[in-house]
Amino acid sequence: MSVVKNVAVVGGGAAGFFAAISVKTHHPLATVTLFEKSSKVLTKVKVSGGGRCNVTNANNDIASLCNAYPRGGKELKNIFYRFGPQDTKNWFKDREVSLKAEPDGRVFPVSNNSQTIIDCLMEECEKKEISIKYKKSIKSLKKIQSKWALSFNDSHITNHYDSVIIASGGSPKLKGFEWLKNIGHSIITPIPSLFTFNMPNESIIDLMGLVVKDVKIKISGTKIETIGPVLITHWGMSGPVILKASSIGARDLFERDYCFNIEINWLLESNTELLYKKLEEFSSSFSKKTVINQNPFQFPNRLWQFLVRKFGVPTNKKWGELGKKKMRHLIELFTKDSYSVSGKTTFKEEFVTCGGVALSNININTMESKIHSNLYFAGEVLNIDAITGGYNFQAAWSTGFVAGKLE
Ligand SMILES: Cc1cc2nc3c(=O)[nH]c(=O)nc-3n(C[C@H](O)[C@H](O)[C@H](O)COP(=O)(O)OP(=O)(O)OC[C@H]3O[C@@H](n4cnc5c(N)ncnc54)[C@H](O)[C@@H]3O)c2cc1C
Repeated sequence: MSVVKNVAVVGGGAAGFFAAISVKTHHPLATVTLFEKSSKVLTKVKVSGGGRCNVTNANNDIASLCNAYPRGGKELKNIFYRFGPQDTKNWFKDREVSLKAEPDGRVFPVSNNSQTIIDCLMEECEKKEISIKYKKSIKSLKKIQSKWALSFNDSHITNHYDSVIIASGGSPKLKGFEWLKNIGHSIITPIPSLFTFNMPNESIIDLMGLVVKDVKIKISGTKIETIGPVLITHWGMSGPVILKASSIGARDLFERDYCFNIEINWLLESNTELLYKKLEEFSSSFSKKTVINQNPFQFPNRLWQFLVRKFGVPTNKKWGELGKKKMRHLIELFTKDSYSVSGKTTFKEEFVTCGGVALSNININTMESKIHSNLYFAGEVLNIDAITGGYNFQAAWSTGFVAGKLE
């Protein structure tokens, strides 16, 4: 086996840092240089999770963890067995970074400050004598005999790398991947994932700020169905249920130019007979009360009143006057409430690229390119992305760690 000498890592984000550190962990004698195109590294880590950095997820069950990745879930399974969320937590703990899990499973540093994660990664790089070169944007790479030659934006060329790890992140434009395409990799057209829905023609936006704990949404004409909290915003809808749908449906919704209908089941329950019975009991208990002022469900009264008006129940109508037919109809409306979406808005807390280097080009056991030996990939540059919850960083840590083994 040849001794690893010179390793170049392209990209100073989460995946690039983890890959560089992993190289030095597994090959202490290697010389590792990390090239970053801008004047700063770990910029996404800094702003991530609203400045708190949602580092990973509390879920250590690899099979269910993979379900969080609409792209790459199947391939990541093997990688997570080699370096999964528990390994991430141990890794930071071993370096005295205390992490905490929130009730929804998101894991943050106890400091609630992403700088803690940055400081830890920078310190580790320094300890391991990883050299970081700023303002070095790689424009192309080429294999000359057994060495990799890298060409930079400033026309500088270096030609002595035994191995190269590409961790240049996602990009919503194909142009960002051209240099990788030029050396034979297939690029799955990059498009945005994790966005909120615009509903400019829907009066529900008057309820901005309102949160409903659990609803089920279905995107009409697709198989996409998600469950979770929804937040009404001044432009439409956001919250976990919407972000998850935007992630699962990223490509489908892109192809529809972000114009589609959604159906909301405000009651979550889909057994209409059960719901009807409940409503019937409620109507006899509160027969003298007006429908609009007596909400039978758990969701906020503001929403109840909005929906009752939307469904055409007169404001003076009493529960006792509603009648069976109208009650059945109301159940139908509450479980299949339709809204039209036209456009999307970037979710500022976390957005990712769907698409990138095709996983079919990658040996998933090692993260090595199947097109070129001694060329590895890690992070969002690959066609891997997840819903929100710390999963995107987990993919960066895991693929970076495995790539850095240089197997
Ligand atoms: C606002 C925001 C908040 C987020 N919050 C979270 C969160 O809390 N939890 C979570 O799990 N995920 C979060 N994500 C997603 C997560 O940040 C990314 O999935 C993750 O950063 C990907 O890491 P990466 O190293 O692959 O890519 P990046 O972090 O994008 O790093 C790639 C680096 O490569 C550099 N680069 C690119 N091209 C070249 C080149 N040719 N030469 C040299 N350098 C190059 C770039 O400048 C960049 O520094 C968030 C994303 C955003 C945008």
